[in-house]
Amino acid sequence: MEVKDNVITWDYDGTLDHHFGGQENNPYIKQTRDYVKRLIRKGYNVYIITRRYGPENSSLGFMDEHLQVWKTAAELGIRRENVIFTNRMWKYSFIESVGACMHIDDDEREKYWIERHLPKVKAIWLGYDNWEEQLINVVDGHDKLAIFFGNKRIVSALLLIITALCLAVYLLR
Ligand SMILES: [Mg+2]
Repeated sequence: MEVKDNVITWDYDGTLDHHFGGQENNPYIKQTRDYVKRLIRKGYNVYIITRRYGPENSSLGFMDEHLQVWKTAAELGIRRENVIFTNRMWKYSFIESVGACMHIDDDEREKYWIERHLPKVKAIWLGYDNWEEQLINVVDGHDKLAIFFGNKRIVSALLLIITALCLAVYLLR
């Protein structure tokens, strides 16, 4: 399966929400959700891939495990077709099936399986201090001109203005 630069997948529990059970133990929720919204605005095709049971298995696990994921997905602007429930299976084959170039997860084991089976996919583990930097690097790498954070875009614009001014001064002198 081809890896597509515009497809990014996210874990749910412990990444886009608190861990299973509702205890408030994920300090990154605000950042991760913010990144998802920005990526969607930038035109990325964002998926949630969760090991939770899907609607077809709503009587298993904690019962109706999918509902909370759908709710968050709707809040983030992710369509239900882009929410994949692996029913407790590891995620790498699902990541491959959508052609994601990057997956973000709080479970280091998912990263291990992705790296083992999908060498072209960037697996980002939230346990890294620099996970945000890694994510931004991948996104920036796709788009040299319109940079994710806009910082480099501002610098480019300033350089262009300075160059134009220098040229004007040179021509008009
Ligand atoms: Mg997780």
